[in-house]
Amino acid sequence: MLNKIKYALRRFMYGRNGIDTLSHVIVFIYFTLFVVNLFLNLDILVYIGYVFFVWFLFRTFSKNLRARHKENAWFKARIRSITNLFKPNKRSASSKSRTKSKSTSKKQTKKKPTVDKHHVIRTCPVCKADLKVRKIKGERYVLCPSCNTEVKIKV
Ligand SMILES: [Zn+2]
Repeated sequence: MLNKIKYALRRFMYGRNGIDTLSHVIVFIYFTLFVVNLFLNLDILVYIGYVFFVWFLFRTFSKNLRARHKENAWFKARIRSITNLFKPNKRSASSKSRTKSKSTSKKQTKKKPTVDKHHVIRTCPVCKADLKVRKIKGERYVLCPSCNTEVKIKV
């Protein structure tokens, strides 16, 4: 019986977003509002709580995975850039990946350096990390290894 429910639930969740980092934070905010409102007892906080709860349900059961992943990656990138502000010694993710190509005595232009004949550097629009991509003219989608998002790039 319990297995049957588990199986049905898994089949129902197939192809849906489920609970990611952003959803965890939304639930956290929802419960925080709930607890705060035990003391304040304000109608407005109840309604704001509903909004967060509905948002949570929407994201969990959404089938538009690309859009949800993009939101989640965007959110994680914002969190990372905020936490980086408080860690002045740590390099940002983008400068870290830039030092990977330190093999050079060649001069590199600061913005979008060309790595070799067959590759070019593009910036991930979501997390701002440098992406080394094959030099094939045109627009296409590539998977950013830093934030795991499919992003559109133009070469
Ligand atoms: Zn990225």
